[in-house]
Amino acid sequence: MAKKFNQPLRMCISCRERDTQSNLLRLQCVETQLSLFRGTGRSFYLCKICQQDQKKVLKALMRQCKSGDKDKFSNILKEIITDDRKS
Ligand SMILES: [Zn+2]
Repeated sequence: MAKKFNQPLRMCISCRERDTQSNLLRLQCVETQLSLFRGTGRSFYLCKICQQDQKKVLKALMRQCKSGDKDKFSNILKEIITDDRKS
């Protein structure tokens, strides 16, 4: 019953809202390339609301990845979100 209160909260990099890990999309950067988290390395989270607002999110993502290729990030983000919804 109280189980969900024990889940650690993670912060969305864009809006800085906190939520449980299962409600957030976990991403990482591999050599300044955006990807889904693969199990190792530094990662960050994106909430479901921010996934709908890519313009806002891209700034935060580029800050995380220290990369400025907005078009590339935008395309990769779209792919990741589409794949995430399929599974
Ligand atoms: Zn957010």
